Amino acid sequence: MEFLQPEDWSEALEARAEHPGALPLWGGTDVMVDLNFGRERPEAILDLTRVRDLSEWEERDGRLRIGAGVSYTRAITELGGALPGLAAASRTVGSPQIRNRGTIGGNLGSSSPAGDALPPLYASDAEIELASTRGTRRVPIGEFITGPKRNVLEPDELIAAFHVAPVSGPQQFSKVGTRNAMVIAVCSFALALHPDERRVGTCIGSAGPTPIVAADAEAFAASMLDWDGGAPPADADLARFGELVAAAASPIDDVRGSAAYRRHALGVLARRSLAWAWSER
Ligand SMILES: Cc1cc2nc3c(=O)[nH]c(=O)nc-3n(C[C@H](O)[C@H](O)[C@H](O)COP(=O)(O)OP(=O)(O)OC[C@H]3O[C@@H](n4cnc5c(N)ncnc54)[C@H](O)[C@@H]3O)c2cc1C
Repeated sequence: MEFLQPEDWSEALEARAEHPGALPLWGGTDVMVDLNFGRERPEAILDLTRVRDLSEWEERDGRLRIGAGVSYTRAITELGGALPGLAAASRTVGSPQIRNRGTIGGNLGSSSPAGDALPPLYASDAEIELASTRGTRRVPIGEFITGPKRNVLEPDELIAAFHVAPVSGPQQFSKVGTRNAMVIAVCSFALALHPDERRVGTCIGSAGPTPIVAADAEAFAASMLDWDGGAPPADADLARFGELVAAAASPIDDVRGSAAYRRHALGVLARRSLAWAWSER
């Protein structure tokens, strides 16, 4: 197997264009598992870890641009204030070793419905920056992921970064697993309040072929919340929000949990997340 190791971004894009069958690699925490289990046999590996640009992030014109090679550990330590939902999700990923090595770009690349970084990015309307020698384009995250482990990345493209606005209100992330750590989500839920726009962002993880935005629940919460007075939502309204989130899910029965359990758990996570977030504002 050929091993390509570009030194900078333009070399990386050229290598990608010349070797569309090469498998990009950053932390390798998904790639190495797939290689070890024989699920992937690429003709070449495209190791991106020397491309320094990919591990940088910056704030410009009120938006954050975060390179695909930023690890979970750095999302927690460097971006926890600006992106508390993503940081909360990052804390639940794997172990310290996986969080040091694994990246949010890699989570996007894998496009698993159970990827923990994805729901907070949906709830905050992130855009994914894709690049090739032909140029760059930005795709809303909901259009980037098209199915289980499928996305719109062309064979000559790489994920350069994602763009997201820094926090404008409380954010929450909750995850149910079969144990407390080192666990793939049975289901998860991300919530972002945008009080300046009187808007609520949501996303369900691990209960459908892709992460799912609970649009009816968002609209209900936006109209029900007392944005001016700040009164806490009534229990019946929280329960209704939970029901609408549960109804938006599309779970299956599998080894990690039944569809019925996932729906029930999502209703509980949603109700609690909204109450916690509202009390933080
Ligand atoms: C023990 C263990 C525990 C784990 N726990 C969790 C968990 O709790 N939650 C969770 O969500 N995940 C978990 N994972 C999965 C994994 O750690 C994450 O998906 C991680 O984000 C992958 O990042 P990476 O940098 O290691 O990606 P890699 O393995 O290097 O790549 C992953 C995919 O993205 C592609 N890719 C990487 N970078 C780019 C790029 N710049 N452009 C285009 N494609 C790219 C690769 O080709 C590959 O398809 C776990 C894995 C292990 C081994």
